[in-house]
Amino acid sequence: MTQHSTMNNAGGSAPRARIPVAVLGATGAVGQTFIRLLRDHPWFRVAEVAASERSAGRSYVDATHWLEGTIPDDVAAMRVTECSPDAVRSAIVFSALDSSVAGPIETAFARAGRFVCSNAKNHRMEPDVPLLIPEINAPHLAVIAAQRERCGWSGALVTNANCSSTVAALALAPIHEAFGITKIFVATMQAVSGAGYPGVSSLDIMGNVIPFISDEEPKIQAEIAKLLGAVDGASIRSADFRVTAHANRVPVEHGHTVCMSIGLASPATPQDVSTAITDWKGCAEAVGLPSRPNEPLHVTTSRDRPQPRRDVQLGGGMTVSVGRIRPDELLDVKLVAMGSNTIRGAAGGAVMNAELLVTQGYVPAA
Ligand code: NAP
Repeated sequence: MTQHSTMNNAGGSAPRARIPVAVLGATGAVGQTFIRLLRDHPWFRVAEVAASERSAGRSYVDATHWLEGTIPDDVAAMRVTECSPDAVRSAIVFSALDSSVAGPIETAFARAGRFVCSNAKNHRMEPDVPLLIPEINAPHLAVIAAQRERCGWSGALVTNANCSSTVAALALAPIHEAFGITKIFVATMQAVSGAGYPGVSSLDIMGNVIPFISDEEPKIQAEIAKLLGAVDGASIRSADFRVTAHANRVPVEHGHTVCMSIGLASPATPQDVSTAITDWKGCAEAVGLPSRPNEPLHVTTSRDRPQPRRDVQLGGGMTVSVGRIRPDELLDVKLVAMGSNTIRGAAGGAVMNAELLVTQGYVPAA
């Protein structure tokens, strides 16, 4: 990530020393993105890496099929541990675990008093677990108090959304705030890196489109509404618009493209929508977080953008690009949004969530 700042005007204080953190599932595609993003992070340093028992006990460099760039020397030499709170000491734990195992492991860490920032789907839709994008819904952190009371733990579970939900929700947030959304039709074109490593077989995806991603469409439909919902006492009440989603896997390396047709509660022209997105700053609590890009959203007027190959690294992979804002013949307006699935839609989003936990006083700022 390229836009780290040490200033923070989010109301909390930046740590005086880098906070040690752990990455669970550190050997996988998202785990590796955490390692890359945290290499020069001003507030956090990777102190521990954990994965399955297949990897535990091996050095990180031996256990990992490293995919991009170079492994930081200090992490390469680390011994991979098991994913248990007895083996991992850090207060902040980033989870890039496969969802088949993430649920109970993350719960064990929260019960042991740790702050778990998870990419996995397992706890996302629990009403007192924040599904967090700091620019959109920083106040959702308030439900942590109810979560702690219900679960009887001193730690916390905080999740980030599915990668396509994240790209869609960022583009929709300014529109919902300005005009109100009544319904959304979503069709995704999702990169192969979204399936992890080794992911989809090359013989299945090269020169092809696969119109099915297991469990993806219900997740997109439910998560967009929760992300744009509001705190209601001890839980988060989802927004009451309706969403229908189609999810497709396409032969793109990084970057999920999301085409949306949107019904509005108040009339707005495509230019009104473009202005609302361009002017949107999002929650004040997120301003100054090291991972927040200068522009959470970037509107392009080029008729053939955004494109994953050309735009996925905008804002260090944290900016979502929006283009082709135009009238919709069935609903009111339609557009294309595109963003990085492994950075904004996964590891970078979780890192920014942890930064918010620090500035909002949940994690002691060392
Ligand atoms: P991945 O490449 O398959 O990596 C999975 C990780 O989980 C590996 O580190 C693996 O360790 C570990 N693991 C597997 N079984 C385990 C066990 N029994 N105990 C402990 N660790 C175990 O998957 P990924 O794409 O990085 O995705 C990780 C999570 O993020 C998933 O929940 C996924 O749905 C979510 N996510 C992914 C993306 C994306 O763009 N890829 C976006 C948003 C969310 P070993 O190497 O030791 O097997």
